[in-house]
Amino acid sequence: MAEGVPQEPWRRPGVDKPRIERAVREILLAIGENPEREGLLYTPQRVAEAYEYFFAGLREDPLKHLEVGFSEEYKGLVLVRNIDLHSLCEHHLVPFVGKAHVGYVPGEKVVGISKIARLMEGYARRPQLQERLTDQIADGLYEHLGSKGSIVVIEAEHLCMTARGVQKPGSITVTSAVRGIFAEDESQRAEVMALIRSQR
Ligand SMILES: [Zn+2]
Repeated sequence: MAEGVPQEPWRRPGVDKPRIERAVREILLAIGENPEREGLLYTPQRVAEAYEYFFAGLREDPLKHLEVGFSEEYKGLVLVRNIDLHSLCEHHLVPFVGKAHVGYVPGEKVVGISKIARLMEGYARRPQLQERLTDQIADGLYEHLGSKGSIVVIEAEHLCMTARGVQKPGSITVTSAVRGIFAEDESQRAEVMALIRSQR
């Protein structure tokens, strides 16, 4: 493949762990730490392992989780609330954590409930923005699955804000994306939003 041509994300090779280890050692030196002291000796390796996991989504196509849908007569709302979300903000490489609420109204195809969480994780495990993540999940369920509509609400705490004291600790960022019937029909949208808010 020609240099500079971006590859499909799921074709990218695995993370270069030795390179991460060298970089983490450099960071430790740059902050004035001693990478040779006992507690830090294996930190570069541990960070490399952790990053391989955090960024595993770069090496998969999350939409593949929607391929194994099945035909079903059910035409109502499917709503999965309170899916645990862990991602890393791409501006600071610091976690943002929270909950995702994901709903859709099936068209021809229904997917297993667990696939919705997998779709979210595939997009969350990469340098990410909460706004983009919200859109990607909604688009996947609407465009790729061919649903009649999708809705995604994400509530997350960004440690790059709360841990640095830019905003008060515990402040939550809420994003939402609606597609199809939820974008077109205000009553449909209000109904599902009420379900998302209920029984917390
Ligand atoms: Zn950030």
